Amino acid sequence: MISMRTVDKHFGALHVLQDINLEVPKGQVVIVVGPSGSGKSTLCRTINRLETIDSGTIAIDGVQLPAEGRALARLRADVGMVFQSFNLFAHKTILENVMLAPVKVRGIDKTKARARAMELLERVGIANQADKYPAQLSGGQQQRVAIARALAMSPKVMLFDEPTSALDPEMVSEVLEVMVQLAKDGMTMVVVTHEMGFARKAGNRVLFMDEGRIAEDTDPDTFFTAPKSERAKDFLGKIL
Ligand code: ATP
Ligand code: MG
Repeated sequence: MISMRTVDKHFGALHVLQDINLEVPKGQVVIVVGPSGSGKSTLCRTINRLETIDSGTIAIDGVQLPAEGRALARLRADVGMVFQSFNLFAHKTILENVMLAPVKVRGIDKTKARARAMELLERVGIANQADKYPAQLSGGQQQRVAIARALAMSPKVMLFDEPTSALDPEMVSEVLEVMVQLAKDGMTMVVVTHEMGFARKAGNRVLFMDEGRIAEDTDPDTFFTAPKSERAKDFLGKIL
C-alpha cells in the first residue's frame, strides 16, 4: 500500500531522510518512534507529498510520486493525515468540518456528504456535538473530529503525527480508542507516537528512526522489551 525505495531528503546541509526503504502492506499498522529531530514527521509528510524528496521513489497503492495536478490531488485524497494540532476550521461547525472536503474535492452532493459525515461522527463517538463549533469542544473531541474529517475522504492510508501529544492526559485514551478501532477495521496506518500501550495493542510493526534512518524495524513486543541498538535502549530509557 505504501512503498518507499531509497528515499533521500535534505533540508540544506541536514540529511533528514537517509536511504529510507519501507513497504507497508494493506492493513498494517506501523508505529514510528525515535528521538526529536530524527525525521519522523518528515517521513510522514513525504508520504502525502507535503514535503518533496531529493531522490528515490514513493508509491501509494501503486501510484508513484512525485505526482502532479490531478494525480497529486487524487493521491492526497487517498492519504488522510491527522496532526498534533487539530487544524479544524474555527468558523465552521463540526458537521461542516467533516463534510467540507468530500463536497469540495470529491464533488459529493451535500445530502450524501452530510449523511456520511454523521455516520463518521457517530463512529468517533461525537455525533451529538455535530452543530457545535470547534472551540466549544475539548481537545480530545476535536482530535476525534479531525480523524472523522480525514476518514470522510475514504482514504486508503491514514497518517498520524503525534495525535495525542497535545492533549490533556485524561483525553488521550478516547482518541487512542478510536485509532485502535480503525486499526481493527483494517485501515493501513502509519502512526508517530510514543504511546507504548497503543503500539502494543494496535501496532504490527515498530520503526525506530535515528538521525534520518530507519535504525530498527521490528514487532512492538520485541522493540519495547529487547531493542537491539544502544540508541534504541537509550531512547526507551527516556520515554518509559
Ligand atoms: P519531533 O519528535 O520533535 O517531532 P521529528 O522526528 O518529527 O521530531 P522532523 O520534524 O521530521 O523530526 O525534523 C527532522 C529534522 O529536520 C529536524 O532537525 C528539524 O529541525 C529539521 N526540519 C524539519 N522541517 C524543516 C524545514 N521545513 N526546514 C528545515 N529544517 C527542517
Ligand atoms: Mg515530529
